[in-house]
Formats: sequence, structure tokens, C-alpha cells
Amino acid sequence: MTLAHGRPYLAIPGPSVMPDRVLSAMHRAAPNIYDGALPEMVETLWPDLRRVAGTTQNVALYIANGHGVWEAANMNLFSRGDRALVLATGRFGLSWAESVRALGVEVEVLDFGKSAPVDFAQVEAALRADAAHRYKAVLTTHVDTASTVRTDIPRLRAVMDSVGHPALLAVDCIASLGCDEFHMDAWGVDVLVAASQKGLMVPPGIGFVWFSEKARERCRASDLRTPYWDWTPRADAAEFWQYWNGTAPTHHLFGLRESLTMLLDEEGLPAVWHRHEVLAQAVWAAFDRWSAGNPDIALNVADPAHRGRSVTAARLGAPHATRLREWTEHKGGVTLGIGLGMAAPNDPAYHGFLRVAHMGHVNAHMTLGALAVMEAGMTALSIPFGPGALSAAAAVVAEGAR
Ligand SMILES: *Cc1c(COP(=O)(O)O)cnc(C)c1O
Repeated sequence: MTLAHGRPYLAIPGPSVMPDRVLSAMHRAAPNIYDGALPEMVETLWPDLRRVAGTTQNVALYIANGHGVWEAANMNLFSRGDRALVLATGRFGLSWAESVRALGVEVEVLDFGKSAPVDFAQVEAALRADAAHRYKAVLTTHVDTASTVRTDIPRLRAVMDSVGHPALLAVDCIASLGCDEFHMDAWGVDVLVAASQKGLMVPPGIGFVWFSEKARERCRASDLRTPYWDWTPRADAAEFWQYWNGTAPTHHLFGLRESLTMLLDEEGLPAVWHRHEVLAQAVWAAFDRWSAGNPDIALNVADPAHRGRSVTAARLGAPHATRLREWTEHKGGVTLGIGLGMAAPNDPAYHGFLRVAHMGHVNAHMTLGALAVMEAGMTALSIPFGPGALSAAAAVVAEGAR
């Protein structure tokens, strides 16, 4: 028998749960792309897109996913033969490094593994060793969605400043923007990339690149840039089509308008960050109790200070993570994330990892429900676990909702 009939819950880190209001806003006839409702509405997006990133500077939109905005950032940042320093804390920093290297940029990667945060002493040493200031930019993820390690961006900025290295700071906020606190200007970030389908609660299809005036100046002569990827006309469009270098992502834009209204004007970013903080803490509290009865169960990131607030990676011991994911999807209507990048899919160890997303349009009942379905699955599958997880998660929610 299955108890999955009802509204399914996709608890993978993107696409995230989309509000019905966002989907309804998209459900309309094709709009005129030359004048009228669409171009008028789009003018209201720019101040809100700056607000969500914590910047007063430039923003360029692309019809692209996260991989697309990596390339958008790369092509504007670099010229052939430039050097980049990439800080990798899981899977996504490595992939961004690959996309930079493919353009003929020399890339040095500091790889901190699959569960550890950035070691700032190593970053400092690498920057000091570059006395000729050949690194044009330092690239990193705010939250690596595979390991769920969160990087302390203000600390990274402070290290770069203390060394006096002039490199630009470029941050991938694809997994965290609209979930985890972020202030582009206050934290001294020069380039920020994000995509619509995670914390911004819109279907995959819009990619965002915010860039500082300093980055604009420093990158004026970047020779990798082609007309389509050039961020300048997108940020400074004189005519509507230039925002997209062609046809606008018409329906997504109406969805984005609705989501920004919900996040910025109705709930407010501090409350959005708090909601994600509490839901993350609830998930961690449950895992702490479960792991007390089974040493194979553990969160991937040991120190809560280094954990992302939008998604949590965990171990259950192979093959239990895969068995549990199948159970929760088919019996309970909750789809959990695979353990990305922890082991190759053909390695038996692969089946020991999973991720629980708590990203975007999620609330207490969804996270508590997902945890309860996980516990039901572990019971049904005879996976041992310690007691008290659900009450511990409920206590976190009770406290967080005060
Ligand atoms: C999802 C994600 C990406 C990749 O985005 P796609 O839309 O799948 O191309 C890159 N970086 C991070 C941190 C992500 O979470």
C-alpha cells in the first residue's frame, strides 16, 4: 500500500517548491514584448532584484540555469591567459572551475574536500604567494549544494583585504540566495550569481549576475566576451530586448515578480532567513537524535556554523539512504535529494548518502512532515535510529516560532 496520494513534496535542492501564486502569475496569454504590461512590470523588478542581493549596483539577467550564469560570469570576468583562484568545498566549486578552465583561463583550485569549510590560512598563503597579483578573481560557492558546506564570505573578504590582493571576489549563491543571509555590497562581493529555481521559487529558466562597479571597470577589456554573454547591455539596456539580447523570458518574469513580492514585501528578507534557519535547525535536531541510536547516521558537516540553511547533506550508511529515499517518495509523497558528489553512482557507497532540502516555499509543517515520513520509512525498512527526533524537531519549531 502507498500513502503517497495527495500533494507531493519535492524536497530536493532545486527545483524547489514553487508557490501556486508564482505558477498562477505565469498562467496567461503571450504578452506583447514591445509595450504594455510586460515591459512596464519589468521596470519594477530591477530595484527588487538589487534588494534581494543586498546591492545598489548592477544586475544582468540571462535565460539560463546555474551552469549558464557561471559561464556568463566567466566570460565577463576573464580574458584568455588570465588566472583564477577557486575555493571548492564540495562539488559545485569544482564544476565552476572546470567551466573557467574550458575558456583558456589558468585555474588554481584549493579543494577543501567534501565536508570541510574553507581553510582561510591556505587562502591567505595562496594569495600571498601571488605577489605579482596574477589572480584576476577568487571564485567560491556560498553554499555548496552537494556537501552543504557554507562559506564565510565576510571572512574571505577580510582575508583578501588583509593580504592586499586586488582580485575580484565572485560568489555562487545559487543554493542560498533568498534562504541564507547575504549582503553583496556590505560583504564586498564583486560578482554574484544565482538562478531562479532555488530560493527564488520560480521554475528553472532565469539566471542572474550581479556585478559591482569595480568589476565593470576591471572587466571592460575582457576578451572572452561575446555579444550574447556581455553583461553591459543587459545591465544598461536602452531598449527592452537588450535586457535579454532577444526575446524576454516572458512568463518566468511574471512568476519572478510574484516571488519577489512574497519574499521582500510580504514576508520580508529577515523573516525569510529566520524561517530557513529554524527549519534547518529542526532537521539537524532530528538527525542528532537519530544518530544517537545508529553510528552510521550523521550530518555531513560537523559544525553547525559551517552548514547551509537551505539544504542538509547526511549519511545513513549504504544502501539505506537510497532505500529510504525510495520509500519516502513511493509510500509517503516526499522526494529527498540524492547524495550528490559523495561517491560515484556505480559505487555501492553512493547509496549511503542523501540530502534533505528546506529551500524556498517551505514551512514548518512541510519540514516536520518530511522528517516524520523519514522516520516512518526507517521504521518500515528496519533501519535503526535513536528516539526523540520528531519531538526534538518540534521543539525547535516551537522555539523558532515565538
Ligand atoms: C544548483 C546549483 C548549481 C547549478 O545550477 P543548474 O541550474 O543546475 O545549472 C550551481 N551551483 C550551486 C551552488 C547550485 O546549488
